[in-house]
Amino acid sequence: MSEAVLRFAPSPTGGFHLGNARAALFNYLYARHYGGKLLLRVEDTDRDRSTDASLKTILNGLSWLGIEFDGDPILQSEQVESHRKAVVQLLESGHAYYAYETPEELDALRVEAKATSKRVQYNRDLGQAERDAFEREGRDSVVRFKVPEGETTWVDTIRGVQRWDNREIEDFVIQRSDGSSVYNLAVAVDDHNMGVNLVFRSADHLSNTPKQKMLFEALSWEVPTYGHSTLILGPDGKKLSKRNGATTVTEYQERGFLSEAVFNYLALLGWAPGDGREIFNREELIDMFSVEGLLKKDAEFDEQKLLWLNGEHLRAKGIDALYDQALELWIAEGWTTADEATSRKDYLVKAVELMQPRLETTHDFLTFGYIFTDPVDYDAKAKKKHWKTDSPERLTALISRLETIEAFDEVSIEGATRTLAGELGISTGKLIHPTRLAISGVGHGPGLFELMEVLGQDVCIQRMQTALGNLEREASVPAG
Ligand code: GLU
Repeated sequence: MSEAVLRFAPSPTGGFHLGNARAALFNYLYARHYGGKLLLRVEDTDRDRSTDASLKTILNGLSWLGIEFDGDPILQSEQVESHRKAVVQLLESGHAYYAYETPEELDALRVEAKATSKRVQYNRDLGQAERDAFEREGRDSVVRFKVPEGETTWVDTIRGVQRWDNREIEDFVIQRSDGSSVYNLAVAVDDHNMGVNLVFRSADHLSNTPKQKMLFEALSWEVPTYGHSTLILGPDGKKLSKRNGATTVTEYQERGFLSEAVFNYLALLGWAPGDGREIFNREELIDMFSVEGLLKKDAEFDEQKLLWLNGEHLRAKGIDALYDQALELWIAEGWTTADEATSRKDYLVKAVELMQPRLETTHDFLTFGYIFTDPVDYDAKAKKKHWKTDSPERLTALISRLETIEAFDEVSIEGATRTLAGELGISTGKLIHPTRLAISGVGHGPGLFELMEVLGQDVCIQRMQTALGNLEREASVPAG
């Protein structure tokens, strides 16, 4: 094959669905791995359903994922003249015909087809006089494609040989009564005009391919190679839909997922490198991608896995980039300002380092408010579990030990805590949990001793003293 020319052809009629994003991604990976052009065609011919907002969302999602195209986008709505010309060519060459059946006649034809187990028999051979008579009657006409006898086959890049018995495909409409062309015609014409020679899309489109191939052949155009990737199923085994959770790229973008993790995860929905490896950055995916690795089995969307992958990508990220993301969120949340952050950058960077091993999404940065302010209240569940009647006495003892530490680092804090626990004959956990609650207001988080080092001696002691005041009165749980 000469240079591969691929395209992504979204319809701007809603959100940027994960399935569409994956189609864009496979085309992108193919073009970047094997070399080739990737074009963008906006299928905006459905005037009622296409919106600028949807187009904006799709373009924004594509650029967030880093999927770039060669040349400017082609708008399908601007190609109507070529669609019309192709219909004329098909009419003139006898591959298409005007059909005048009324809705009632169509119903009757369908009933008859069902009864005789044949495909619907439209009147393919109207003479000019009959057509004129129908026109005078004021009947509407559509243009139908004359589906030939036999079968339509193609070697699918992903699925191997595909065969469709043409008896299963009725003469389909290619131009509506208002003169507008129908999807399959528009796609075939645009693919031809854009020089597309490899069509990669999802299995949703399998039944369109024989129709498009017939159109190419009837128009004496070279037929592109087709490859249909798997469907994406939800955890319930049904096609992924809102029922199964978030289904658009935008939702993940807004929930604090990294574009590189979504990019990585989408690639795994229908492709595998063969060696079980799952974590890849963009360059690695471009490098590893292969048509042979595209799977035939439907992919199952698993949000937990995406979360895990996101965490892995967050951990692989350089601390500076992560700090920038955290800061953006903290500023938006009103927890700090750019100036204030600059003045305590060392401290905040250390906090980000502390959080990095535990992140699932960047929004988790918003669970660490205690980096900025003292806790104002204490998590009820953690309080119930960890604040016992003997906690104040133990905490008071720990405060005294902490006050004596000269270099307030993780090792010394841990040493002091463990020594005290040993002397009191209790497990270290009996000191750790109430201290964590006092310092952060919550029952979980980074390793306590590391956290205390980052917060510093004064802040820790002061928060423990405040907690003693606040919690002493509330201690209702028996000693533990
Ligand atoms: N516009 C179609 C869609 O969004 C894609 C057409 C194609 O890939 O051939 O599903």
